[in-house]
Amino acid sequence: MSDKTPYLGNPQKTIEVIQKYDFAFQKKFGQNFLIDTHVLDKIISAAEITKDDLVVEIGPGIGTMTQYLACAAREVVAIEIDKMLIPILQDTLSAYDNVTIINEDVLKVDLNKLAEEKNGGRPVKVVANLPYYITTPIIMGLFENHVPLHSITIMVQKEVADRMRMGPGTKDYGALSLAVQYYAEPYLVANVPQNCFMPRPKIGSAVIKLTVHEKPPVTVRDEKLMFKLIRASFNQRRKTLANGLNNSPELHYSKEQIAEAIERLEVSPSVRGEALTLEQFAKLADVLLELEGK
Ligand code: SAM
Repeated sequence: MSDKTPYLGNPQKTIEVIQKYDFAFQKKFGQNFLIDTHVLDKIISAAEITKDDLVVEIGPGIGTMTQYLACAAREVVAIEIDKMLIPILQDTLSAYDNVTIINEDVLKVDLNKLAEEKNGGRPVKVVANLPYYITTPIIMGLFENHVPLHSITIMVQKEVADRMRMGPGTKDYGALSLAVQYYAEPYLVANVPQNCFMPRPKIGSAVIKLTVHEKPPVTVRDEKLMFKLIRASFNQRRKTLANGLNNSPELHYSKEQIAEAIERLEVSPSVRGEALTLEQFAKLADVLLELEGK
């Protein structure tokens, strides 16, 4: 089985592959490849992959982490946008018969359909060293489209990992914190320094595991409305909650309705959105629906 032993997680092998294919790193695709076996081991063990699992990897690069995932999982689907990487992946993953490579922008892939076809609709595990320029759309897309997920174990910028775990009253608290907390339980696996990547990113990274809730921690009648309220509050962070909601093009409540809903929350009329908890946003959404007569 030695031909299936992962061999890419070090600088020498990565350089070898890159030179063999004359590959040029594309900044626009957020290409920073992992070159540290300890970090790879940590990600794989945190993801708790078994031979029952379908794993979706976003952005396999030259296939470094994919080799580890292929050894641990039943099946891996690796989605890579950069067509220059496809021949490389076909080479580095040739020993594994349980890997499918899709050359596509992950934001355009119907992951619900993929989970249905390849996993009978059962929850999949997402594992990725994410391209940082689209971290938030990727995570929000997975959640909002209700892709059947067990967990998401991902490398992100350190500050994004912080934002996911913050509560009200901190500068990092925002729409992403609330979405992550509504859908999942975040856990910081490890901080990862710049020298674990090639080329080195400018800022530190962190691996975070989001274990998806079977049931959200709060109940809300209209989840979409709650997220519209959250977005409206944080789009204008420095304004009061009332102003944020009044100014949002996504919302069409009267000033009076908004004032009354805030009063029903039993908070100050000049409260800022960033002071509200997830429970309070859920209540605000329910009250506004009620005021509409719904
Ligand atoms: N997994 C590899 C590793 O750890 O060495 C590469 C990680 S690198 C940070 C991000 C990868 O995502 C790159 O291979 C990049 O080409 C790919 N990527 C960027 N945007 C993407 C998109 N929209 N859809 C799919 N893959 C994308």
